[in-house]
Amino acid sequence: MNIGLAKLVKELIKNSFRPVTAEYPAIPVHARPHEPGEEVRGRHKFDIEKCVGCGACQTVCSSGAITITDSGLVRVLRIDLSTCIFCGRCRDICPEEGLQLTSEVGLAQPYGENLNSLKVEHSVDLSNCVGCGRPTYPRKQIEAVRMRVLSNLDKANVDSASKDMDIYLKYCPDCRRSLSYTLGTHPRKLY
Ligand code: SF4
Ligand code: SF4
Repeated sequence: MNIGLAKLVKELIKNSFRPVTAEYPAIPVHARPHEPGEEVRGRHKFDIEKCVGCGACQTVCSSGAITITDSGLVRVLRIDLSTCIFCGRCRDICPEEGLQLTSEVGLAQPYGENLNSLKVEHSVDLSNCVGCGRPTYPRKQIEAVRMRVLSNLDKANVDSASKDMDIYLKYCPDCRRSLSYTLGTHPRKLY
């Protein structure tokens, strides 16, 4: 038997009695010598306190991992990390910094395991238009936008804009358009 063949037979015998691939996910990556760097995009850190339910993350999600369902006056946001490709677009667009991507990449589950740990669900209340009654935007989002707009205005205009918003944020965009003069909230007031 030549040396090459002897080595091959030796390897074959050795590999018959030990795993030749990593026993992942039975042995998590964290137990292995390699740790992912901070720049690696992995499991989401979702802050439900910060999330206002605006849905911006869902509109840019590359893989359909984020879904939004409105039912009556409740909006449900769902994130399914088992279909996420960790592109980071949701993190980049979130106006409230409610989504971050950690460097945790060990998300694989042994076959047959419950995948619920990879699913996140969050509900927010929707406001409804005082004109037509239709659901409009999440209440948390309306308040966040209001605060953001006011904090960026010249102080001289804050009172006027605040009063305007007290009125028009109660209406949906369609009713607001049709009532724009009646409501007396035209931005010309600020000029
Ligand atoms: S606040 Fe951020 S996480 Fe919540 S729905 Fe909007 S974009 Fe998504
Ligand atoms: S990281 Fe990308 S694929 Fe994953 S939920 Fe966010 S936008 Fe969707």
